[in-house]
Amino acid sequence: MALAVPILAALAALSWLPGPPGAAAAQGSGEPDLSPAARRLQAYVQIDTSNPPGNEKAGALYLKRLLDEAGIASEIHEASPGRASLYARLKGSGSRGGLLLHHHIDVVPAAPAGWEAPPFSGAVRGIRLVGRGTIDDKGLGIAQLEAFLDAKRSGGLRSDLVFLATPDEETGGALGVSLLLKERPHWFAGISDAIGEGGLVETIVDRPRLFGIEVQQKGALWLRLSASGPGGHASLPGPTEPSLRIARAVAAVAGKERPLRLESEVERAFRAREGIGKGHPAAGDLKRRVKNDPARLRAELSPRDLALLTDTIAVTRIGTDSLAQNALPRTAWAELDIRFLPSTDPAELLEWVRATIADPLVKVKVVFQGAPGPASPESDLSDAYGVYGVIRKVLAERFPGVAVVPDVSPALSENRVFRTHGIRAYGLTPFRLNYYDMAGIHGQNERIRLDWFDEGVETMRRIVRAWAIRP
Ligand SMILES: [Zn+2]
Repeated sequence: MALAVPILAALAALSWLPGPPGAAAAQGSGEPDLSPAARRLQAYVQIDTSNPPGNEKAGALYLKRLLDEAGIASEIHEASPGRASLYARLKGSGSRGGLLLHHHIDVVPAAPAGWEAPPFSGAVRGIRLVGRGTIDDKGLGIAQLEAFLDAKRSGGLRSDLVFLATPDEETGGALGVSLLLKERPHWFAGISDAIGEGGLVETIVDRPRLFGIEVQQKGALWLRLSASGPGGHASLPGPTEPSLRIARAVAAVAGKERPLRLESEVERAFRAREGIGKGHPAAGDLKRRVKNDPARLRAELSPRDLALLTDTIAVTRIGTDSLAQNALPRTAWAELDIRFLPSTDPAELLEWVRATIADPLVKVKVVFQGAPGPASPESDLSDAYGVYGVIRKVLAERFPGVAVVPDVSPALSENRVFRTHGIRAYGLTPFRLNYYDMAGIHGQNERIRLDWFDEGVETMRRIVRAWAIRP
């Protein structure tokens, strides 16, 4: 079973390689007529860029071929063998800051069990395209590419436009944007704003109710706890076995809640959602209850809303080096994924973890620390210079009555790296997605409705035109 996926993916990849992108799959096989953009997404999904190992270079070469066909020069940067980024720039008159369109090429791995079609087949099932990456993040990547190609055809750019695809996002992004900022700083020259993945979409059945534009993220602190001992026969355990130390440490940290706090950007996000309807708590009420009624508030909020009010601690992996059930381990360990609010001081948080464990023989090592970065400014319709305002205007025109609001993300993406380097970054999902489709992100049966994908491509086109092309 494990072998079936790469073979299928390789066969599927061969089927599109020789032909032009539009003519790829299954003409006359009963598949619905896919738009040229949907065919490109299908071909992109068929390239297996599961991370690990990534193999993003194959994806970068595919994007390069599409840019070549449009007469646009592009550059590939290989961070390590097979792990590549792709960059292309359209020059504008410079009367407006440069806009960078970013997505990541890698996807989270997918085992075929439970999928309605193999995850790298790019199969069409009914009105949907099924495949790992259709939403996260190749759908966005193709929408951005189409907008970029459209801007090239239009000409008359007042802003530089950069198309950037990077590797390694799903495992922390060490080979992605932060590396490029060091090794290819000129790729970011003149860039004031970026649009990347993220944000929030609420579609009730098929009516879009809300688009959240991500303006800030929580930070991340990944810790590895470890303890060691002499090992030996399990019939003679001591009182200080490493496995016991780790079990106690994990129970202490994970069993203790961090306080609830309503930060200004989070409060703005909740306030903007007020009155939208069911499932959105009122900001004023939240503020009161954070103070007076925290225990019930914790029980009532959705996990996502609760995560925006506190630092969260997840125990993701626990293990020992024991080779047998009757052998004491010499080493035991646990990994914690802690996500902290923007105003939390990570050094203070680390001290809190150490103090809560209260065992000097448990070592606490920082594996990864990601700063949340500053919030990107929101601008309203009167602000002709904000990308946020442009996104809001285009979405409001296309979906009358929809709420477009700022959002804070509990998760990490490359947006925070742009923000810490002085680039305003906005997380946007331009597609309608409903509850059931959202469940496919990092899960089983990731898929996108073809009409909603095409609609999102057009939305992205209009956003980029509104920003970069003289009216
Ligand atoms: Zn992603």
